[in-house]
Amino acid sequence: MRKTRISMTLAGVALAALALAGCNSGTPGAAPSDGGTDEGTDEGTAWFEVASDVALEGSPTFDKISSAGKVVVGVKEDQPGLGYLDVVSGERTGFDIDIARWIAASLGMDEEDIEFIRVDSSAREQSIVNGDIDYYVGTYSITDKRKDVIDFAGPYFITGQGLLVASDSEITGEGDLDETTNVCSATGSTPIQNIRTNYPNVPTTEFNSYSECVEALVNGQVAAVTTDQAILIGYAAQQPDELKVVGEPFSEERYGVGITKGDSVLQDHINTLFTDGGEIWQAIFDKNLGSSGIEVTQPAVD
Ligand code: GLU
Repeated sequence: MRKTRISMTLAGVALAALALAGCNSGTPGAAPSDGGTDEGTDEGTAWFEVASDVALEGSPTFDKISSAGKVVVGVKEDQPGLGYLDVVSGERTGFDIDIARWIAASLGMDEEDIEFIRVDSSAREQSIVNGDIDYYVGTYSITDKRKDVIDFAGPYFITGQGLLVASDSEITGEGDLDETTNVCSATGSTPIQNIRTNYPNVPTTEFNSYSECVEALVNGQVAAVTTDQAILIGYAAQQPDELKVVGEPFSEERYGVGITKGDSVLQDHINTLFTDGGEIWQAIFDKNLGSSGIEVTQPAVD
């Protein structure tokens, strides 16, 4: 574990961001400016300046990471553009994955010091409470209910609930949902809760992951998949002939980094990283979601 001050960390990360943005494309490890993921040169924390000499006094999570010499991060792995694992190459990609790497680098962790663990929507709070993971980055909406048991840093991204349907579907938005339209979403997610509460006559199907819902949609077992539009856009892009995203977002989902309740030192550290790292945030967005059609700006942290 190298030691340096946080301000150094931020300066280093800012430099890396300039390289990322293509201002210094000759730098080893700089990301391709076109947002591609080719050649593997832009993967992992090679993207980011790994902080040396970090000290987060009073953070139990940081103490645990320091003594373990590694950081355990909970993520999704079936959400293209956000949190995705290529099972053939073993490569992880996506906006959330790079946010997770950025945080890890700021804590002094190299790519090889990061252990990514798949944690589905329904298991997130418990895996943080149990200490199975050090933090969670995976389309995780900040809600008061979740804040009863964990804390969030952020928000770092804002999207809204949408609908994914078959390309020949007549559903054009949530107004078309009724007792004949079975809607699929993930167990423990805010979108499934929203349908249950506000569309009580609409039948629902639940799976642990959204990719299982997408499969059910393609097989004609459900009429729609509902979750955040940012997630649905990734699935539609994978099968543009079969699937389309319809309607306007009908909720607000503010993504946070899930952390252990009471670790305000880590929370402040991540929030400062986000606040001071606008260029890096933008570079991460451009690389992963820049060609998706999603238009967002970085939100201010709470
Ligand atoms: N953002 C929503 C949530 O946190 C839906 C996406 C997800 O399940 O990860 O519940």
